[in-house]
Amino acid sequence: MDYVTLNTGAKMPILGFGVYQIPPEETERAVGDAIALGYRHIDTAQYYRNEAGVGHALKASGLPREEFFITTKVGTSGYRDTKHQIERALRHLQTDYIDLMLVHWVMSDYHGTYQALEEAHREGKLRAIGLSNFNQRQIQGIMAQFATVPAVLQNEMHIFHQQNAMREFTKEKGIQFESWAPFGEGAHDIFNHPVIAQIGTKYGKTVAQVILRFIIQEGVVAIPKSIRKERMAENFAIFDFELSPADMAALRHLNEDRGLFGWNN
Ligand code: NAD
Repeated sequence: MDYVTLNTGAKMPILGFGVYQIPPEETERAVGDAIALGYRHIDTAQYYRNEAGVGHALKASGLPREEFFITTKVGTSGYRDTKHQIERALRHLQTDYIDLMLVHWVMSDYHGTYQALEEAHREGKLRAIGLSNFNQRQIQGIMAQFATVPAVLQNEMHIFHQQNAMREFTKEKGIQFESWAPFGEGAHDIFNHPVIAQIGTKYGKTVAQVILRFIIQEGVVAIPKSIRKERMAENFAIFDFELSPADMAALRHLNEDRGLFGWNN
């Protein structure tokens, strides 16, 4: 496993396991499978309603808490609701600290939300805090008001939407960029893309593996999701090869600045 170092000094595994759309009753099994395969970084959210399943899987693994990097996200708006949500997440995840908590999206009182996260960060309940689905102006607003620079920005990023301007911006600010939907949720027949498949053939790797390798070689954290154990294993097997500069350039060339929902951030 490779790691990135956050502006807090903490190490974050560059590859994680995302649990969006995994039904609550299936989450413990799926996360348990991922842990058995070697995943130590799990990405959940209040909105996914499966934080408790993640908590059960962590406990059932019998592994020490510090082996894991756990991200969750608050979908609440404002200071008071967020304070409650932080406590709820700690309970559901059965832990006394969370490695990273993100503001899931821009909401009416996201400054109040960030204030609650910053407080919990100072108390040690949240080891790092960050943002998701924010644009540059909104990030600058947060940085102008708060002393704690977000550690991570988790935004949509995949082959068809490479986020070059935003990645440049976050790099300048010392914010780690993290990709959600590294496969673009499978849209545009991405798993049969001829250029990506051809590159994969050279390394004996699948389209999914080339995509994930591309993202991590760009220095971006990736959190692919699958409920199938064989795909989880496939997605994890990306640390035994390296894409050449020419192949990286060919993959960069596939960028269309095309987000899944037409968003700009
Ligand atoms: P994704 O890009 O990871 O694609 C998931 C799809 O790809 C699934 O249908 C899965 O069956 C398929 N797939 C996975 N591995 C495969 C493989 N090896 N071969 C063929 N098909 C494969 O999409 P996602 O789940 O939306 O995103 C990943 C994670 O990002 C989520 O689980 C969640 O943790 C996070 N996320 C965050 C936000 C946000 O607003 N912050 C939004 C969306 C997703």
